[in-house]
Amino acid sequence: MKVWQIKAPNSIALQEVHETIGPDTVKVKLTHCVLATSDLQSLKGSADTSYPITPGRLGVGVVSEVLDESLKRGQRVVIEPYIPCGTCVACRTDPRQCMDFFVMGRTGDGLLRDFVVLPKNCLYPLPDQVKDNEAVFTDYIAIALKALGALNIEPGQHIAVLGASPIGMILSGLAIYYQCVPILIDSRQDRLDAARDNGVYYTVNSALSDINKRVVEITGGRMCERSVFSMAGGEMPQKILSLTMRGGKAALVGHQAVNEMCNVNIVDIVAKSLEIVGVSDGKGFTSRAINMLANAVVNVNALAPAVVSFAAAGPELIHAAGANDIGGSLISVTI
Ligand SMILES: [Zn+2]
Repeated sequence: MKVWQIKAPNSIALQEVHETIGPDTVKVKLTHCVLATSDLQSLKGSADTSYPITPGRLGVGVVSEVLDESLKRGQRVVIEPYIPCGTCVACRTDPRQCMDFFVMGRTGDGLLRDFVVLPKNCLYPLPDQVKDNEAVFTDYIAIALKALGALNIEPGQHIAVLGASPIGMILSGLAIYYQCVPILIDSRQDRLDAARDNGVYYTVNSALSDINKRVVEITGGRMCERSVFSMAGGEMPQKILSLTMRGGKAALVGHQAVNEMCNVNIVDIVAKSLEIVGVSDGKGFTSRAINMLANAVVNVNALAPAVVSFAAAGPELIHAAGANDIGGSLISVTI
């Protein structure tokens, strides 16, 4: 098996490893892997990373070797990137309830490799109508669904989405499906244009407009019942407090460090009686996310990742880290 490994900050190399399957594991041949902001942070050493680590949280492949009938050889699968720790109290009875799971590419090895051996319960069969290059974004859709669930959204509500990261863009599309009105905010006009082309009507360029003034205009002065701050979006979290109406709810979504530290004035949270939730993973929402893709409810076209070969993935990650596009570089690797 060939595996890309980040050895230390700014150092990535292709390694040869050997792994064998057991009764509870399956060997998967990866076909696609997407590298994102968290992988750039691992490479740059700006995240809380232990080295060496294989990057890549998002992956799709086909079953290559399995010892029983639970999955068929050649079955296309998407990989849920969360592995139970195996040692916590929950893992002793039901590993699906693990309280301290590893996240592939972040706190455990990821999927930038040609083959991988994984626990069976990480693998979800893909329906024929979902293409590999769409299915690879399943975990982003799962995270967005989990965030919308945590916010208890209702039809007609305005949702300020601060940060047109991949998750911010997917979440905006899903909000429309649930009959809400997303207002997508970012300083990068190309991302806002891509979102508009995919049906997000209200976009606000934070570099060119007064965000609060625009949201006042769009909501008729009521402000947003719900708001979302994307950790990978390049905006600052404090802004969501002024965009959310009194008694509203806000979600902080993602798992990356934002400028090393997030500063938020908690007085604003108390004064407006806001409810704040954090969502860092899509665990438990993978089947729902696949269903959204199968029914063409969610559209990942706007994400437009750079596409590279497996051999070029390491150098491309080094290049992207140098370009310093912290706001959500995506590299789709064809394996
Ligand atoms: Zn556990």
